[in-house]
Amino acid sequence: MIAADQAQRSATAPGDSTGKLFVGMDIGGTKTAAVVIDEAGNLGAETLLPTAQGNDGVLNTAEQALIALAEQTGCAVSDFTAAGIGIPGQVDSAHGIVRYAYNLSVQSLNLASLLKERTGVDIAIENDVTAAAVGAAHLMQLNGSVAYINLGTGLSAGIVVDGKPWRGAQGLAGEVGHLPVDPRNRPCPCGQRGCLETVASGSALKAYWPAGGEHPGWVLAAAVADGDADAKLAFDLLVEGAASTVRAMGVVMAPDAVVIGGGLRKIGAPLLDGIRAQLAAWEAESPFLSGFTLSQKLQVLPEGMPAATVGAALSPRV
Ligand SMILES: [Zn+2]
Repeated sequence: MIAADQAQRSATAPGDSTGKLFVGMDIGGTKTAAVVIDEAGNLGAETLLPTAQGNDGVLNTAEQALIALAEQTGCAVSDFTAAGIGIPGQVDSAHGIVRYAYNLSVQSLNLASLLKERTGVDIAIENDVTAAAVGAAHLMQLNGSVAYINLGTGLSAGIVVDGKPWRGAQGLAGEVGHLPVDPRNRPCPCGQRGCLETVASGSALKAYWPAGGEHPGWVLAAAVADGDADAKLAFDLLVEGAASTVRAMGVVMAPDAVVIGGGLRKIGAPLLDGIRAQLAAWEAESPFLSGFTLSQKLQVLPEGMPAATVGAALSPRV
């Protein structure tokens, strides 16, 4: 167990009695973060690189991250026991293949075997949100079943049961963002209309509040406080959509805990308070819904907690 208070970054090489070192890597559309963790869960070297696009770009980025971590740790790349990689798209963990990672310009990539050929390191791959869910459950010490809702550019969820990811067939579990619920029926990139992602995501915020610029989540709360009517509409839609997402995951899974992660959690207290208040209002109207106690189970991933990379590092072992 990696305790939350051990999730400190340090420049020193971790060491433990077995000497096993694991790498956890989170490959995102623009940046790739990676850390070294020993078997006891101590964090060591870390690196952050720009992500290059396409199959070769992703392979080169991952290889460069491993080289940088080995240099900082003072070992050879092949000394790493295994590396776990979280990556967006449809991830076939059993065969180490990622498909349809559009924000990486990857159609299909045999990432695990090709990266092992280059580096000699055993590679496990995981959907990025699923990896973050595993990391969040581990670092926040959440037992039982956990629904991890990623409010990012898009909207999706990761499911963890007793510390292990619930991947679903073809690794497709958790695509709650493509559950159509919104009567405005805006088209969604998935081909449906009115999906939760069209109201509760960073891309939805941009559509409803273009004045918010490239990162509307960073300035939304201040604009709402200043009385901006468009910002208020976008915020209200986001809160209702996020609460609907919690409710959908909640009534299907009856999870022990619900965690909000992703970039939009940086909106902070107004977002969490809003979601909790919306859930409480629905619960007050419905004895059925109140039985799920979702408003009480809701938590936010603490700022700075490296759930994505730590979860990826655990993936070779879960
Ligand atoms: Zn959709």
